[in-house]
Amino acid sequence: MNINNFFREPVSEHTNLLVSISNQLYKGKSKYQEIIVAELLEYGRALILDNLIQLSENDEAYYHESLVHPALFSHENPKEILILGGGDGCAARECLKHNPKEIILVDIDEEVINVSKSYLSNINMNSLEDNRVKVVVEDGIKFVERIDKKYDCIVIDLTDPFGSPIGKKLYSKEFYGIIKRRLKENGIMVTQAGTAFYYYEVYNQVLQNVKQSFLIVREYNVWIPSFGYACCFIIASDSIDPLNISRETIEKRINDRNVKTKFYTPKVHEALFRISLTKKLNKN
Ligand code: SAM
Repeated sequence: MNINNFFREPVSEHTNLLVSISNQLYKGKSKYQEIIVAELLEYGRALILDNLIQLSENDEAYYHESLVHPALFSHENPKEILILGGGDGCAARECLKHNPKEIILVDIDEEVINVSKSYLSNINMNSLEDNRVKVVVEDGIKFVERIDKKYDCIVIDLTDPFGSPIGKKLYSKEFYGIIKRRLKENGIMVTQAGTAFYYYEVYNQVLQNVKQSFLIVREYNVWIPSFGYACCFIIASDSIDPLNISRETIEKRINDRNVKTKFYTPKVHEALFRISLTKKLNKN
């Protein structure tokens, strides 16, 4: 096996994914992270930050549809959306399907945004150039601290809570306290929260931090092959419970908004909240 054509992704301290690379399209180092775009034989074109696959063409819809649609379809009229992170443009692509008035996307790394515009346009469908999307290059926590604005939905698509230090502050109790104040009444937020199986303590801390600020907190997870684990998501609101949104309501909203998806359906919405948390079973 020619080791040179492989990329080793550290799934956890003791587990690695060895992923065949057919072609490296871009490699650079920004102020914040190493950025690679590569063609992976199994997963297609991928964005890799600090050695962690952030998205890959052949399975990113599982992630981005699961990140965006349970929250946005639980909201009756998501018009003003804030995305923190998401510099690859795929969460924005999914949010645009709801025909919002405006999406503010705040990513700390301009390099990721530029590389995504250049190399991922077939995947993000040029969402970062859409005139309803306003891209802000700034630390997400500084943005939400300074901005005097409220949103219908806040989608938090950052690097993993167990990964790069640049995103860690945006998983804290204080941060979710600010997020709560940046949501309109009947607003809803969702965050990706890494993996409970490999980093249970990290995941559970994020969950407790969210619970400190919100009355209704729901968890769900979806297997992402190129991540090598079931990615966890945490959705929170003081008034909307995604578990109580009927299949008929979701169906109506999908039709009214004319949203096309590859994975998410009203049945998937129901199922997501019924899959138990994927964590190590031998740990009490
Ligand atoms: N889907 C990926 C995952 O599951 O880990 C996340 C993808 S997205 C590319 C992650 C983005 O978070 C990166 O573009 C990174 O620059 C951004 N990010 C990290 N820390 C940030 C911060 N403090 N403020 C804003 N964006 C941040």
